[in-house]
Amino acid sequence: MSTPQPIQTAPRRYQLFIDGQFVDAESGETFKSPNPATGETFAEVAEADKADVDKAVAAARKAMTGKWSKMSARDRGRLLYKLSQLIEQRAAELAELETSDNGKPIRESTYIDLPGVVENFEYFAGWATKIEGETIPVPGQMFNYTLREPVGVCGQIIPWNFPLLMAAWKLAPALAAGNTVVLKPAEQTPVTSLELAKLIQEAGFPEGVVNIIPGYGETAGAALASHPGIDKIAFTGSTEVGKLIAKAAAENLTKVSLELGGKAPNVIFADADLDQAVNGAMMGIFFNQGQVCCAGSRLFVEEKVKEEFLGRFKEKAEKIKVGDPMDKSTLMGPQVSEEQLNKIKSYVGVAREEGATIFAGGEQPKLEGALQNGYFFQPTIFSEVNNRMRVAQEEIFGPVSSVITFDNDDDLIRQANETMYGLSAGIWTRDITRAHRFARAVKAGVVWINTYNMFNAASPFGGYKQSGYGREMGKHALELYTQVKSVWVDLSGKPIGWFGQ
Ligand code: NAP
Ligand code: MG
Repeated sequence: MSTPQPIQTAPRRYQLFIDGQFVDAESGETFKSPNPATGETFAEVAEADKADVDKAVAAARKAMTGKWSKMSARDRGRLLYKLSQLIEQRAAELAELETSDNGKPIRESTYIDLPGVVENFEYFAGWATKIEGETIPVPGQMFNYTLREPVGVCGQIIPWNFPLLMAAWKLAPALAAGNTVVLKPAEQTPVTSLELAKLIQEAGFPEGVVNIIPGYGETAGAALASHPGIDKIAFTGSTEVGKLIAKAAAENLTKVSLELGGKAPNVIFADADLDQAVNGAMMGIFFNQGQVCCAGSRLFVEEKVKEEFLGRFKEKAEKIKVGDPMDKSTLMGPQVSEEQLNKIKSYVGVAREEGATIFAGGEQPKLEGALQNGYFFQPTIFSEVNNRMRVAQEEIFGPVSSVITFDNDDDLIRQANETMYGLSAGIWTRDITRAHRFARAVKAGVVWINTYNMFNAASPFGGYKQSGYGREMGKHALELYTQVKSVWVDLSGKPIGWFGQ
């Protein structure tokens, strides 16, 4: 049976979404988004820069005082719920577009990304009517209560690894809380955000509540982060750019939340169920071609099971089907871009220079037809790594596992925490005491015990240390998108006594 190959059609065309309308960029410029499986142009997209950011921020500001601000929480929730349903109805098509723009296997976009998008809009639809203030038991003849209000105009900048899902994580809580948004998708994957814009229009959100402006980070992204007209900036991406965002925001004291990189420890103890642990190691590093901020890219294996574990890990890694992402049986598609592919290749050189062993993979697979020009890379394992090596400390953001051995719990915890990152961690063991001890001791925002890469719209996600600050999803996300006002009322009817009379 021959492998289905992507069929090249004319590039899809997209405009910016500002103030409820689809418009060209002020400059008239466009940019190309390739299909990473073939390198061919998949879409040609209007390129926003500072002038468009200004327009979008003005539209979002205007919407903050219009119909949207007067809408009941129930109606806001209903709009979000309607959007979740429209997405669900078009899920199959959106999954195909996501795969064509990003390269992730269709089985991932279909069974993970799109259901996650629907779940997030649905979950936060329910929150719209449950955002409440408090009454505070203050002394004397006073009544004190709090109002929880929207922050205002939110700038949101997202990466390319889960394009539509990242848009959902950002938009859903912001809108549930009554904010307006200017969203900049990553230049590599603008398509599904703009498809979402069509559904936002169809659902009936008032004009200007959501504005979507693809463009380059250095121009559109930087103009958004430093814009004095926004009240909050939410960013997901690299730690390096996160620092630029925080600096730009500091100029206007704009509120910031950051979801940044990671170099997560995924720990295999000798007492683990090794079959499960091997699968968990694979899920940790090969899912989404390793382009996951919480990827278990440092694989700690207890010395006594090293040989057996590595043998099984390699055998299974080499069986992963890498190829056409539109083929339902493909488990790994291409990396998102040539730039990412080259970065991964360069780390193979770094691993060699540092004295690590290329235990599996390490090269581009040989594929046929149009796929020859795709940005594919083999599932790769570096063994004989120590935690001080660059391949253990730097985020590679590809299907590359760095295997480090340890021989006791204390040694393990020390090494696991020896990193500037702290996004997530995994542990595989049958000993529940050890598992919970590890969960407490590891400096990470998410810990998985005998599982990996589990998410739910109700469960918070975010980082310790240089993996960022703020928590997305769950009720914690609402903290990012609301501010608290304290209101005092005198109940005594008497003048304030302090200055006498
Ligand atoms: P990136 O280079 O930091 O880009 C992320 C976003 O920021 C893109 O939209 C990018 O635009 C924009 N950007 C770039 N430079 C900017 C600037 N000077 N000012 C404002 N915006 C700017 O990251 P990436 O390579 O796309 O994504 C991979 C990284 O994201 C990894 O480090 C990964 O760990 C992290 N990540 C973290 C999470 C999390 O939840 N913690 C989730 C996913 C990814 P362009 O695309 O146009 O450059
Ligand atoms: Mg693309």
